[in-house]
Amino acid sequence: MATVAENLERIRERMNAACSRAGRDPAAVRLVAVTKTVPTDRIREGVEAGLTLLGENYIQEARRKIEALEDLAVSWHFIGHLQSNKARVAAECCDWVHSVDRLRLAVELDRQARKRNRVIPVLLQVNVGDEQSKSGVSPDDLPKLFEAVAALSGLSVRGLMTLPPYFENAREVRPFFRLLRELLERLRGIAPRPGELTELSMGMSNDFEVAVEEGATLVRIGTALFGGRPAISP
Ligand SMILES: *Cc1c(COP(=O)(O)O)cnc(C)c1O
Repeated sequence: MATVAENLERIRERMNAACSRAGRDPAAVRLVAVTKTVPTDRIREGVEAGLTLLGENYIQEARRKIEALEDLAVSWHFIGHLQSNKARVAAECCDWVHSVDRLRLAVELDRQARKRNRVIPVLLQVNVGDEQSKSGVSPDDLPKLFEAVAALSGLSVRGLMTLPPYFENAREVRPFFRLLRELLERLRGIAPRPGELTELSMGMSNDFEVAVEEGATLVRIGTALFGGRPAISP
């Protein structure tokens, strides 16, 4: 198995190449290393190799790992579906939440953030492919959700996140990434503080280069960094 450092170097090269094709500054694209199912010693190896943003998508697993790795100077990004009754855990241990997709969750997260004198940076998750199997607000309902969440003082909306439909050929996903970027531009037109609305969390192991070409500022990469995951998560 390749070391995390070797995988990271290859990913950075590919991200840089995608940036130059698109005329973008590589410093404007940050890598969120998705550590779900990855054991803590391999996560440490990744942090030693230079990872600074870590992503988890099961809240109990996130809490366990964040406690076990609390000596590391990293930011934890929650990227998975979050039940409202788990908002407290996210507010306790996660730095960012990428997956705010409904008002009920936002209201609960805001309440938990204010209790702790926190302002949590969040992204609104959009279901760009209108897929039954995926969470996310529909593009049509996004402006209404944005206006409601932007009014909550415990949350700071920084941008949008998506999990687009899967294609064997990553190029076919391009229109969905482009749609997310257009939706962000439209929101900036109605945002009270458009300068804060800058993040596009899109792109995973199989399609991050296309996402970078279309404006991703946060790419979420697991398999390409840490290797394959077991078919069933622990
Ligand atoms: C697992 C996961 C990723 C990373 O997927 P890979 O294909 O392993 O890179 C990204 N985003 C979310 C929401 C995930 O659950």
